[in-house]
Amino acid sequence: MANAPVQRMSQLMAKTLRDDPADAEVLSHKLLVRAGYVRRTAAGIWSWLPLGKKVLANIERVVREEMDAIGAQEVSLPALLPREPYDATGRWDEYGQELFRLKDRKGGDYLLGPTHEEIFTLLVKDQCTSYKDLPVVLYQIQTKFRDEARPRAGILRGREFLMKDSYSFDLDDEGLARSYALHRQAYQNIFERLGLDYRICAATAGAMGGSKSEEFLAPSEAGEDLFADCPNCDFAANTEAISYELKPVDGSAVPALEEIPTPDTPTIETLAASLGVPASATLKNLLVKVDGEIVAVGVPGDREVDMDKVEAHFAPAVVEMVTEADFAGRPDLVRGYVGPQGLGEKVKYIADPRVAPGTGWITGANKEHTHARNVVAGRDFEADEYVDVVVVQDGDPCPKCGTGLKLDRAIEIGHIFQLGRKYADALKLDVLGQNGKPVRVTMGSYGVGVSRAVAALAEQTADEHGLVWPKEVAPADVHVVAAGKALQTEVALDVSEKLAAAGVRVLVDDRAGVSPGVKFTDAELIGVPQILVAGRRAGEGVLELKDRKTGEREELTVEDAIARLT
Ligand code: ATP
Ligand code: MG
Ligand code: MG
Ligand code: MG
Repeated sequence: MANAPVQRMSQLMAKTLRDDPADAEVLSHKLLVRAGYVRRTAAGIWSWLPLGKKVLANIERVVREEMDAIGAQEVSLPALLPREPYDATGRWDEYGQELFRLKDRKGGDYLLGPTHEEIFTLLVKDQCTSYKDLPVVLYQIQTKFRDEARPRAGILRGREFLMKDSYSFDLDDEGLARSYALHRQAYQNIFERLGLDYRICAATAGAMGGSKSEEFLAPSEAGEDLFADCPNCDFAANTEAISYELKPVDGSAVPALEEIPTPDTPTIETLAASLGVPASATLKNLLVKVDGEIVAVGVPGDREVDMDKVEAHFAPAVVEMVTEADFAGRPDLVRGYVGPQGLGEKVKYIADPRVAPGTGWITGANKEHTHARNVVAGRDFEADEYVDVVVVQDGDPCPKCGTGLKLDRAIEIGHIFQLGRKYADALKLDVLGQNGKPVRVTMGSYGVGVSRAVAALAEQTADEHGLVWPKEVAPADVHVVAAGKALQTEVALDVSEKLAAAGVRVLVDDRAGVSPGVKFTDAELIGVPQILVAGRRAGEGVLELKDRKTGEREELTVEDAIARLT
């Protein structure tokens, strides 16, 4: 590969900012904008500037190498997709408000792909006809579209974002298990190479359907997932994936299911009463604070609530999300999880995580129910929307060994699924088996949040001065700073050329009229792993090398610096 040319800051489109963007809530958002990596185009829609694009490309390269290594073949499918395959699997409707739907000039329905199970299934149906054609694993690195309800965390949750999605097609369960294991290992390699700290956690299948699924979660305060880690055994799970037997908060015995009355119009109060918990304990679907007071907005279904609508409904009162802190010292609050069921109907799930699925019924907001202050399903939100709140608490027993679980926030950076035959059944994907009879294909699907990984890395590695990239993803290997006058600039450019000739990726701050102090601050903000300064002693051929992460500095001759960096 040809050596990369030296990148000159004087020519680079990367304007650094001293102040955090006003709308930024999380560190990665602030730093990636301030360091000139990305710019916001609209809510949840981002432009990648030269430095950001380099980091993104490095992550793509690592993902590609590891996918290729397990025999996956790269393809590129469209993002603009016809409705029909998504009708066949039911996802045109099931996906709810997150799906971007659009019409063409003839009135035909289309969508912008949020994930591509249907389209890959049809591709394989077209291309693979015999058992000899399987197994096959296909992948793409592609822009995905999801109309996220709260795209508030910068690159972490885009409405347009880059995902590596892959799909495996096998003849039998053993084959699927093998493809799944290969991906699991590839993902470990990817995240280790990227320098991300992560845990593999049991997960629920969500909108994808299917059986086994695991998430790769990167511990971070900025994360929107909560996972439980057992300090004693290997158990780790997204709290969404943990369910317990019913255990009222006062510790009393659990009523048998048949003893739980099921009134015609179940309400939160009647359910709470039947479970022997205070009415205010409220087995709620969505908890929000309205002017500081916790209220429930019943929103059953398998969807995210449209917070804008809830906010509009309560206006001018201030609506905020309930956080972990709101539960502290409030044993009367039971944290609830609601299954994907209709409003106020008798259903398979109960609005409490401590009940195994398939055993009870839920409540929902309805017109008579004031706790919800007259929020009406169908008017204020789709009747089948819901948001699940926290389901497991710190110290709850590990389902495997009983030890108290430790809860941490995390960013979901990858997710692997054994789908089984859900999509193959819906779209009739068969191949001819060895005995001449058709065999229904079994599938897996696997995603890495490529753009999200940029932000997750920033969250995990940044310090108070700015970004700190691991070498594999950094936009350059060394950031050369010309700290002084013409002489320093000359030395800096000269050493930059020599480093580049030796294959080192160099960013050089050759800007005229910018003070050394500003250049140092910018170098720290931008986060290239090594900073090489041509300063006071440049005339004697002595430079200073600083490790961005450890802050260690040392003076070196130009020759030694080049030897060290190559
Ligand atoms: P989340 O729970 O964060 O909404 P998800 O479970 O809906 O994510 P998947 O359908 O499992 O996401 O997609 C695979 C991967 O794509 C995720 O593990 C995540 O890394 C990434 N991803 C999903 N949604 C987004 C988004 N809005 N912005 C950036 N990356 C995303
Ligand atoms: Mg999602
Ligand atoms: Mg998820
Ligand atoms: Mg997921």
